[in-house]
Amino acid sequence: MAEFDYDLCVIGAGSGGVRAARIAAGHGARVAICEESRVGGTCVIRGCVPKKLLSYAAHYHEDFEDAAGFGWRVGDIEFSWPTLIGAVHRELDRLEGIYRRLLDGSGVTLLEGRGTLDGPQAVRIGERTVTAEKVLLAVGGWPWVPEFPGAEHVITSNEAFHLEQLPPRVVVVGGGYIACEFASIFNGLGSQVHQVYRGDAVLRGFDHDVRRVVTREMAARGVVFHFETQVTRVDKTGDGLRAQLDDGSVLEADCILYATGRVPNTRGLGLQEAGVEVRADGSVPVDEYARTNVPSVFAVGDVTHRINLTPVALHEGHAFADTQFGGKTRATDHESVASAVFSHPQVGTVGVSEEDAPHHYGEIDVYQSEFRPMRHTLSGNPEKALMKLIVERTGRRVVGLHVVGPDAAEIVQGFAVAVKWGLTKDQFDATIGIHPTSAEELVTLRSPVQGARNSS
Ligand code: NDP
Repeated sequence: MAEFDYDLCVIGAGSGGVRAARIAAGHGARVAICEESRVGGTCVIRGCVPKKLLSYAAHYHEDFEDAAGFGWRVGDIEFSWPTLIGAVHRELDRLEGIYRRLLDGSGVTLLEGRGTLDGPQAVRIGERTVTAEKVLLAVGGWPWVPEFPGAEHVITSNEAFHLEQLPPRVVVVGGGYIACEFASIFNGLGSQVHQVYRGDAVLRGFDHDVRRVVTREMAARGVVFHFETQVTRVDKTGDGLRAQLDDGSVLEADCILYATGRVPNTRGLGLQEAGVEVRADGSVPVDEYARTNVPSVFAVGDVTHRINLTPVALHEGHAFADTQFGGKTRATDHESVASAVFSHPQVGTVGVSEEDAPHHYGEIDVYQSEFRPMRHTLSGNPEKALMKLIVERTGRRVVGLHVVGPDAAEIVQGFAVAVKWGLTKDQFDATIGIHPTSAEELVTLRSPVQGARNSS
């Protein structure tokens, strides 16, 4: 009889956990996975997937307006939030079903309930305890809201997908991925949106031109920004909510959405008791092979708080399973991971920003173009797109690539391969573009816009 109930018990059936469980089972391991909520985790149930569907919905609004320039006369338009949300949730049910069938088909045992560590090789799920030779923490993260008077009246992205009606007046707090995406969604669907952010331009950490263009274009679409401003309190009123800002002004709203970051989901997980090191921010430190300080306990995805993106968690989970159960030692390379912000306009980015580049590469050249995408020559929409390359001066390697505008995420996904594998500006230039596209700009940018830059 085996010493342990399972070879692997995974806590958390999100992207990283499900991938690790399935791959480990494929390598012949006996695998259990526990989940306290719905199978699929943040990305599928309350993150990337429903968010992108709402973003598609919100884009129609300006598409109807743009269509007039092409000869279309669109009648009265009307939007139904309940219809959209119903359709989104049916899609999530379908996806959850697929995830469940994938686990089942791989021979993974799903244990429904909250899993907590009960020592380094045991997991407690309700009244039951299972033992496993190895335990993988894949519990993800959870929205974090600062403490202030009236915090109980605000929502996070989790609840945004369950609103019964489209709120006519929305305040979004924060300037990161989620704040910009939801401000854009609500604005596109027709809400009046105020975005309150403590910084001076959205998307801190991104290239400064990206930040400038996104801020400008979101404002042009109707989002009202309150920069260098904080909410000090929120009160319920007769017909909604009132946010008091630290500049003395007041915003009346039907919904106040906080997108002020996410924290690892490790509270009450039994980590300290099992001897697993936890940082002050709740994250679990791991080495390149997902190993914690306890030999039987591993961690992947947002709980490790490195690059909190689904494809990174998937890769980490896969590499963990191959390494531990497939006889194939693999680590995830966290360099040059591309990402997108599905704000309106979209952002796609890979590699370093102009500000960071000199610290890594010394002298650089910057190539960029800001232009009106072709469809807007007839639509009348004044939106301008940005394409930007950061090139290392000595080796001519393209070390940063940034796009703001229509299809930015799709464009950058393709170019990410070139940046990741170190192609040079000359190799970009030797690539003949596809005409007419926006992305052809990236292989036709001839001269640096601002000469050489260095770290001095
Ligand atoms: P981010 O860390 O991106 O942004 C948090 C924002 O909240 C920042 O603007 C931050 O300001 C602000 N903030 C933090 N604390 C406070 C405070 N006390 N008061 C006021 N403002 C505050 O977090 P998100 O929640 O937007 O997203 C979490 C992570 O999820 C992302 O970093 C990303 O990894 C992932 N994600 C990825 C998506 C994608 O790939 N498209 C989509 C959504 C999420 P400041 O900048 O000054 O620190």
